[in-house]
Amino acid sequence: MTSPVRLRHAWIPVALAALLGFPLVSGDIYYQNLLIMTFLLAIGASGWNIMGGYAGYLSLGNSAFIGLGAYTTGILAAKADVSPFLGCLVGGLTCAIGAALLSLVTRRTRGMYFVIVTFATMQLLGVVATTWSGLTGGSQGLALPLPMWSLSYQDWPFYYPMLGLLVVTVAVSAWVRRSKLGLGLFAIRDDEDKAAGLGLRTAVYKMIAFVLGGTFVGIAGGIYAYYVTFLNTAAVFDIVTSVLIVLAVLLGGRGTLWGPVLGAFIVAPISNFTSTGLGGADAGAIRLLLFGGLLGAVAIFLPRGVLPVIESWFRRLFARGVGHAPPHAHRSRVGSGPAVDRGADASEVLVVRGLRKSFGGLRAVDGVDLDLAGAQITGLIGPNGSGKTTLFNVIDGTVPSRDGTITVGGRRLERTGRPGRAHAGLARTYQLPRLFDGLTVVENLVVPERRFAFGRLWTKRVTAAERERALAVLDDLGLAGYADDSPAGLSYGQRKLVELAQVLWLDPVLVMLDEPAAGISPALSARLADTVRSLRRRGVGVLLVEHDLAFIAGLCEQVYVMSRGAIIAHGSVADVSAEQAVVDAYLGDTPVPVPAEGLA
Ligand code: ADP
Ligand code: MG
Repeated sequence: MTSPVRLRHAWIPVALAALLGFPLVSGDIYYQNLLIMTFLLAIGASGWNIMGGYAGYLSLGNSAFIGLGAYTTGILAAKADVSPFLGCLVGGLTCAIGAALLSLVTRRTRGMYFVIVTFATMQLLGVVATTWSGLTGGSQGLALPLPMWSLSYQDWPFYYPMLGLLVVTVAVSAWVRRSKLGLGLFAIRDDEDKAAGLGLRTAVYKMIAFVLGGTFVGIAGGIYAYYVTFLNTAAVFDIVTSVLIVLAVLLGGRGTLWGPVLGAFIVAPISNFTSTGLGGADAGAIRLLLFGGLLGAVAIFLPRGVLPVIESWFRRLFARGVGHAPPHAHRSRVGSGPAVDRGADASEVLVVRGLRKSFGGLRAVDGVDLDLAGAQITGLIGPNGSGKTTLFNVIDGTVPSRDGTITVGGRRLERTGRPGRAHAGLARTYQLPRLFDGLTVVENLVVPERRFAFGRLWTKRVTAAERERALAVLDDLGLAGYADDSPAGLSYGQRKLVELAQVLWLDPVLVMLDEPAAGISPALSARLADTVRSLRRRGVGVLLVEHDLAFIAGLCEQVYVMSRGAIIAHGSVADVSAEQAVVDAYLGDTPVPVPAEGLA
């Protein structure tokens, strides 16, 4: 029986054959022209989708890459008589460099600010192109030498390269999806800070996404320049083109592989119709209104896009016709996680001196010192608002701090970025668990990176070995049945366990857990305590924030007590609970019960 997957992809060779054959059977220049413009838009949309769809960075400046590619090719052809084929490649290279620069400039911008910066960059390029008239012809425009080939070729010399480039762009886009690069980009889309905390060099991921997207669009811009043979800054650096690109992606299905192509095949004919059908001085404004309005309508009424909707219809159809997928086969157990036994290593894994962090006048962390040994569990307790989470945030680099030193496993980290701290072996969970809901549970486990390696980005999303290891970990947590589902469906407690398993993937030397047992069932809490004990056995240092003192007393060798940003007591649970300062700090909050069973 043909598998539904094969069947689903059967249309690709058919569509490609039809597009390849079209100019040969039909001599109609109008449709050849329409298809060339559709391919251009599809390349622009697929390129945009790598950054805007996969990584979630919406930009409104992508027509700048068409412009940059077009002008590079055009100028080389008009002034230096460079061959169009070479010119287009140089156009792509220029765009790659431009994209890399732009990604450096926008390294710290997100959301709306990113949209604005990319839009402004496009406008700026337009202004530069208009002003630098010696090079670009300015508002007079730039005429390219007319192509020399025989008229009987019609538009083939543009049609086929553009189609070929579209195929390459989609292939690269597909490859990115299946690679670790894609996995990282999707993680960035869900929660960029969390991804950085798991060791992902997010800036590098984003730069590669930007460069890949920009390069193909730049080459397409070069082909376009030759095709129209006349460049005009107002037309090339036009916001409407950017809007059309974004509209095609949103309409087809943002973040999908074929959505941008499908969207382009819908949007390009409409655009073509309006530009031939609308005349007069207001045509530009009307087009902008029309497509801007369409963009808004799609965002509101069809937020997922056409393709995902069609796909879910298909899935339902096949679910009825073919039956359900076989249940997960049982797997051999390979132990839980990367069991690098460091022995009972009692050397210091975390040394913190004089850490400070203020929010305005509020001293959330006020001169904190900590000493944690490996193979040891340390508790951190204190009333709500005493600064425990902020201390975690300063130690892991989420929140910058100018005062104090942080040493993990002998390495000074206070000047290191978040991924670097993860690479040094620092891992943490969050008070409210943060998982990548756009990925499967197995993929969530596999995302963390203990070190950055460029070559690794191109390997498979989840290798067979990684999958086997992840399934074994999930089996131990009783979550194997959810392996290929989104973690969105998990209970709060299960999410906490998955997050713990995720940080353990980093093979850390120090794990900081922020209220791991709060709000979870006793059974999960016991499982959690077991996992923490197994960490101690493997030589990992654990810093545990928890309100449940019985939980703390059952696990921890030592506790620090925090109040108003400062450490007010340190010692065994029994010692600190007896101290008057600790009792005072808790008065009016929860009284401190002295645990009967003593320390583990
Ligand atoms: P805990 O985890 O011990 O309950 P937190 O570290 O969350 O305490 O908070 C410590 C104090 O710092 C609180 O008063 C909180 O309101 C304040 N705080 C925490 N984060 C921020 C922030 N980003 N901006 C301003 N104030 C903050
Ligand atoms: Mg907290």
